[in-house]
Amino acid sequence: MSLRLYDTAARAVRAFTPLRAGQASVYVCGLTVQGPPHVGHVRSALAFDVLRRWLAHSGLDVTYVRNVTDIDDKILAKAEAAGVPWWAWAYTNELAVTRAYDVLGVLPPTYEPRATGHVPDMVALMERLVERGHAYAVDGDVYFDVRSFPEYGALTRQRVEDLEPAADTDSDERKRDPRDFALWKAHKPGEPETASWATPWGRGRPGWHLECSAMAERYLGPEFDIHGGGLDLRFPHHENEQAQSRAAGDGFAQYWLHNGWVTLGGEKMSKSLGNTALVDEVVQRVRPVELRYYLVTPHYRSTVEFTDAALAEAGAAYRRLESFVKRAAERVGAGAGKPDLAPEFTAALDDDLGTPAAVAAVHEVVRQGNTALAEGDDEATAAALGSVRAMLGVLGLDPLDPHWSAAGGDDRLTEVADGLVALALDQRQAARARRDYATADAIRDQLAALGVQVEDTPQGPRWELSR
Ligand SMILES: [Zn+2]
Repeated sequence: MSLRLYDTAARAVRAFTPLRAGQASVYVCGLTVQGPPHVGHVRSALAFDVLRRWLAHSGLDVTYVRNVTDIDDKILAKAEAAGVPWWAWAYTNELAVTRAYDVLGVLPPTYEPRATGHVPDMVALMERLVERGHAYAVDGDVYFDVRSFPEYGALTRQRVEDLEPAADTDSDERKRDPRDFALWKAHKPGEPETASWATPWGRGRPGWHLECSAMAERYLGPEFDIHGGGLDLRFPHHENEQAQSRAAGDGFAQYWLHNGWVTLGGEKMSKSLGNTALVDEVVQRVRPVELRYYLVTPHYRSTVEFTDAALAEAGAAYRRLESFVKRAAERVGAGAGKPDLAPEFTAALDDDLGTPAAVAAVHEVVRQGNTALAEGDDEATAAALGSVRAMLGVLGLDPLDPHWSAAGGDDRLTEVADGLVALALDQRQAARARRDYATADAIRDQLAALGVQVEDTPQGPRWELSR
């Protein structure tokens, strides 16, 4: 493999060598399903979707796990405020997250485990930690003993002495050290019974960090290749995940990759700051494929400042690529040309997923393709088309991919539909002209049954699809 990745743990670019030849195992922290997703939320899924596609394109059999955190303090609090069961709140938002991923062309993970479905794995992991002297139970809570594990702090290069008390529990004199973090939280009076599970230490619910260690081991084994997530997860979440798993005897992740934030108004997009743009709202204004282009073109480790101007610019750039692909496909056929990647594209992605240079390489081949089209050189047009479609496919941006065509990107189908509706409306006009109102109404009703709403305007009839 010639792929090199920036490993946050090593703070260096390292050659990627998978643990098992021909395979790659990837765990990415998914979302806590406490609300509908905003643009900042989906960047991580998009960044690691490109990684996954590139690993697969490089010939590896990729197992990709992304979890769903479906129980935590915020879910319980928000569900209570909304007057619905916590699981209904979580599930509704999980569906919204899945829809957002799908609309942006994020491939479904190989496995998508929910925290609440893996309590036995978490209990088994805690039992190992208690047995090895790295965890202890107090009144139904279970804590990780940070002083028992000399490697604690290694991922983020911090000394235990310099760390603040763990923020996930109130400062608590029952803990051996204020930095000890909760693996498991005892059921509290007033919390819903359904939000607690039986353990050897009493009923309770998982701490956030524990679930990822348990699920990564369940689906990928004690050692796996790549762990990904947003930059803000490095500490404490990933530090704690690594401590739990390694203290229990697992090798855990060999490479740590972290994506940068999306900011709005210079601040990290976040619900608590109120500076969010919901995916659902943005895709009403721009096509989902253009939002994807906007988010995957910058390097995954860079910060993306979300602005309408930058989004419009990205849309225009994508349409230049799309226009070439569609015109070339009409001229030489969509399947023409070999799927050869430009060498600059391959080199860019192999260099820590350098998407800016990779996208620049696509634009360069499109420029050559446009020249070939203008000169009527079908052979060169086909070569450029095959290459551009293959490269855009790696980025999940091929305009002729059925995912985007089915989402309304197919101009040809729209044209045909327009023509057919116009034909029906002409028939209706003709019926009305001869005062055959029964036929005119029947045509209108049949269109309505197909979801075509007709409105009579002074300029003639107009139509649109009803939802
Ligand atoms: Zn995690």
